[in-house]
Amino acid sequence: MLNIVIFGAPGSGKGTQSERLIDEYGLHHISTGDVLRRHIAEGTELGTVANQYISQGHLIPDDLMISVLEDVLDSNPELTAKGVIFDGFPRTIDQAKSLNTMLEKRGTKVHAVVGLEVNEDDLIKRLLQRGKESGRSDDNLDTIRERLNVYHNQTSPLRDFYVNEGKYHAIDGNSDVDHVFESIKTSLDRKLA
Ligand code: AMP
Repeated sequence: MLNIVIFGAPGSGKGTQSERLIDEYGLHHISTGDVLRRHIAEGTELGTVANQYISQGHLIPDDLMISVLEDVLDSNPELTAKGVIFDGFPRTIDQAKSLNTMLEKRGTKVHAVVGLEVNEDDLIKRLLQRGKESGRSDDNLDTIRERLNVYHNQTSPLRDFYVNEGKYHAIDGNSDVDHVFESIKTSLDRKLA
């Protein structure tokens, strides 16, 4: 059983690489962004609150986000039994500490963190391109810039947090999808061997 955090800036390819990893390692996928977008589409109370933050490119407050993830894990115990790719969570040090606690309570842990490292110009290009097809309210230039600021200020310190835990696998995410996936696989397989 394997729990992986896929980590990186908006547009770094987390969703795309998660799909490949699910197939390769038979894991479940939890994307907190997808969970929130489902709530928005269904018009729930959480969706209404989340939408205010998402459309501005800001993070949902930690206590709320942590309880959303805990609910997902509680209502799907089979997820942690098999192994999960956490995509978009954690995004702050407090979330990372909570994830450790949540997994410990369930008799497991984060085994590896895959950090997709992509240069800033490419991130913006990719997100603008995605915005043409995604219809996402946050894939426009102003919100993209804000999301990247938020990433640098609040999320990127997690890199050191996981380096200190000896779990961080730095992956050059600048090349094409197949190449990046091969690098991830090589790095994870070396760890699992
Ligand atoms: P994503 O689909 O991962 O790019 O997430 C889209 C948006 O959802 C983010 O810009 C945040 O507003 C919100 N979001 C998703 N995951 C989290 C999280 N772990 N903490 C706070 N906000 C989040």
